[in-house]
Parts: sequence; structure tokens; C-alpha cells
Amino acid sequence: MLSVLLPAVAAGCLVHPIALDAQIGKRALPWLPPDLARQIVRHERDFARGAASAVRWPESLHRPGGEEGVETAVVAQCERLVSAIRRRTPFSEVVAGLGALAHLVLDAHWPFPNGRTPDGAAFGNYVMAASPRIPMVFYGQNMVMIRGPSTGLRRLLLGRTAQQHRLAGLAAEDLARFGGPSQWRRLDDRSTSFAIASLTINHATTDFVNLASWVWYHGGGLVPEMQQAPDALLVWRGEPQPREAPRPHLGFR
Ligand SMILES: [Zn+2]
Repeated sequence: MLSVLLPAVAAGCLVHPIALDAQIGKRALPWLPPDLARQIVRHERDFARGAASAVRWPESLHRPGGEEGVETAVVAQCERLVSAIRRRTPFSEVVAGLGALAHLVLDAHWPFPNGRTPDGAAFGNYVMAASPRIPMVFYGQNMVMIRGPSTGLRRLLLGRTAQQHRLAGLAAEDLARFGGPSQWRRLDDRSTSFAIASLTINHATTDFVNLASWVWYHGGGLVPEMQQAPDALLVWRGEPQPREAPRPHLGFR
């Protein structure tokens, strides 16, 4: 089973700082189907193990575009996860597979496809430093996609990667304004870079939630419909946790 969900190959991801993968899993907890969120909490280490394993997948699977690109890798991983759940694979392995999915989703959203260019590395450093201050925003449950065929997953991702390419240009301009990539520490929370970091993390989290919900739904799990006004964002305050928690943290703006 390990080989099916986590095909380990010697290569490496050069896109984004891998410590952010666990954050996507944590930030997703309030918006995921609660039964699935509880499994991720229970198997937190397996989630991290899966994300770390995805880092070693062939380089093309981390980059947007093409038949071998990250969009294809995400759809394939979602389909593998559905099969695994239907075959009653232990949840430790399913959650590891979700960790790998979170890694790929963040790759698909990352503005710079190469994290080793000066701008790409500076942006990665900045997002790591700013992430504790990035609010937890959910852009909405996509029930049409969740209940639909896997072709809808690819469509969602292709829209995102085009958008992220535009953000890379803005992030590079912002770095230049502050004195170049080596000056990334001068970026503050009012900078364009903070807005781009926030969009990247929150769009990745929202898409991860919808993709994981697609997996859960097609694997036979319950995906409760969330009450959300059209165009309203949901904001979670406090420590992220599965949303059946007694304290109401759900906020609208
Ligand atoms: Zn990657």
C-alpha cells in the first residue's frame, strides 16, 4: 500500500519550503468534513511523513503544466486516495497520502515554479516568516466540484496556476522596490508580498479542502454542506481544529 500511495523516487522538490505543507493540513481542519479532519488530527505524523515523501517525487510532478505536471499529479493522487479509502486502507496511510496531496496543492499555488532563483528563495523565506500572521481564510466549499467527476479537479487547478504566474511578477516587483531579493526581511505586513503570501496560503488551503472533500465524498464519506453566503469569506480565529469543536470560531466578513 505504501508504494501505491507514496511512490518514493530519488529526486527533489525545489518549489516551496516544505515546512509549509503541515500548515496547509492544520489550516484546513475547520473546513474539512469533520470525520476526515479528526483522522488528520489523529495521524498528524503520518500527514507529515506523506508530505516529506512527496518532496522526493520526480521534479516534473511539482511544476505546473504538461501531461507530467503538478495538475496531473494532484488528480492522480486524489484518485489513488479514493481507491485506498474504498479498499479500507488503514487511516494512517490515507492521511499520509493526504499529506502528499497537500504538498502538491501548495506547489500548484506557489507563484515561483523554481524556489532556487533569488526571487523564489526570497519569497519562500518571507512566507515562512510571515505565516504565523497570515489570517485563516476559507474561500468556500465547492459542492459542484466535490460531487462531480475528476475532470473538475484539473479545471480548478489550471485556473489557479495561471493566476499564480501573475502574482510572481507582482512579488518580484515588490522585492525590487525594497532593494532586491537579499532585502526580503524589509518586507512588512502592509507590503504587496504579504497579500500575495496570504492569497497563496489561503487559496492552497481552500483548494486542498475541496480536493480532500472530493476524495472523502467519492470514497463514501459524509461531506456536510457548509452554510455560507455567496461571495462571503469564512475566517477562523484561534487554534485550527475540526469544526464540531464546542467553541464557535466561525466568523464572516
Ligand atoms: Zn513540490
